[in-house]
Amino acid sequence: MVDAATLGRNVYLLIGGLILLGVGLVLLVAFWTVLKAWLWRARQRRSLRAWLEATRRADGGMYPPHAEGVCQECRRGDRRIYHLPGGEQLCPACYERYWPRVEANPGPEPAIPQPE
Ligand SMILES: [Zn+2]
Repeated sequence: MVDAATLGRNVYLLIGGLILLGVGLVLLVAFWTVLKAWLWRARQRRSLRAWLEATRRADGGMYPPHAEGVCQECRRGDRRIYHLPGGEQLCPACYERYWPRVEANPGPEPAIPQPE
């Protein structure tokens, strides 16, 4: 037969243990959530950086649309050939030499037809 004092102490210990277990579980879930949110933000920043590197030139301008083809300058095939508004098709190496030269010396402005 268990005496009432021992039974009471054991019930208190059991309740205390369950409360500690619950608090520990809540802390573990909170830590896990913060860790996952931090990892998600780091992955998102890395993904944005990779997207910007793939779509932006060194000066921040957009690369023109591209497709698989043959470069008109060096005659090499590439999976990424830029199609320029003027009709030129350039590989990334030739385009990197092309755009600073063209944007430093833009051609004449297109003539705007004047009303008679
Ligand atoms: Zn080329």
